[in-house]
Amino acid sequence: LSKSKGRNRYEFFSHAIEEQAIEKRRLIEEIRLALKLNQFVLFYQPIFDQFGLKAEKAEALIRWNHPQRGLIGPNEFIPVAEQNGLIEDIGNWVRDQAIEDAAYFYQLSGNIMQVSVNTSPLQIDPSGLWVDEWILACNKHRLPRDTMIIEVTENTLMDPDSPIQQQMQRLNHYGIDIAIDDFGVGYSSLAYLQRLDIDILKIDRSFIQHMETNESSIALVRAIITMAHHLKVKVVAEGVETEGQHKLLEQLSCDYLQGYLFAKPMPTQDFIDRYISSAALIHV
Ligand code: C2E
Ligand code: MG
Ligand code: MG
Ligand code: MG
Repeated sequence: LSKSKGRNRYEFFSHAIEEQAIEKRRLIEEIRLALKLNQFVLFYQPIFDQFGLKAEKAEALIRWNHPQRGLIGPNEFIPVAEQNGLIEDIGNWVRDQAIEDAAYFYQLSGNIMQVSVNTSPLQIDPSGLWVDEWILACNKHRLPRDTMIIEVTENTLMDPDSPIQQQMQRLNHYGIDIAIDDFGVGYSSLAYLQRLDIDILKIDRSFIQHMETNESSIALVRAIITMAHHLKVKVVAEGVETEGQHKLLEQLSCDYLQGYLFAKPMPTQDFIDRYISSAALIHV
């Protein structure tokens, strides 16, 4: 009896795994089609000065405008795209769209709104093509230097012998800023901060989240900010949700703030209406 039960269970699991595999293949095909049919969109979330008053930068965050399922967030398709080489095409699309948008923001307001773009390490081609294409795309839109920021996570920069290092240096040489996303949750080596010219550290939301209840979170955030400032690196706090967190971050001289307390990611046109057109009026 127990033997047949075991077999049933095995069949149940193998069936479930097979179903998952089919589901995944379907998703991959759908992502491919979505690229062709232009179903991806960028949302923008403003990044404010330390008082939460002025939008200084904006992070581009991809969404999939699915005809049946509505808006789908990146966590549901970026990891799959990374496993299947599709991240390259998606990444190229994000780059071109973000650069086009940044050029449009500049044209509308006459001021630079720095636009930050998330990058998967898998996109960074060691031969240098990836950087070449970034530079070409910026030139095509005659973008002022320093308009674009590229966000990478810590583990992208961990290995000092990786050819990615050199590519990041080339980016920096060209004037594109480099930001470390989700800072603090990756490996703990800080050596790359010395090796590379990092412009921005983005403190992971998990630290910000616990600042009001956990003394050690405050201590960590303070230490990160102090270290960054000694290295002439600016700091963004990610995921600021409460006034209490904002107050603490202001006391710690955090340079920039991003989070639902100030604004959620929004469609490009909303972002323009709220943060670009009004800026244009003030500066006339
Ligand atoms: P991330 O780069 O760390 O982006 C921040 C995420 O936190 C975003 O989620 C944003 O909507 C969310 N967020 C912002 N403020 C708050 C807050 O106050 N509270 C909370 N709970 N969440 C907040 P989203 O848009 O779902 O993006 C998730 C991740 O997907 C991003 O994390 C990034 O790693 C990745 N991603 C997004 N767009 C792209 C892209 O174009 N390319 C690549 N390779 N990855 C992307
Ligand atoms: Mg990011
Ligand atoms: Mg720089
Ligand atoms: Mg982050």
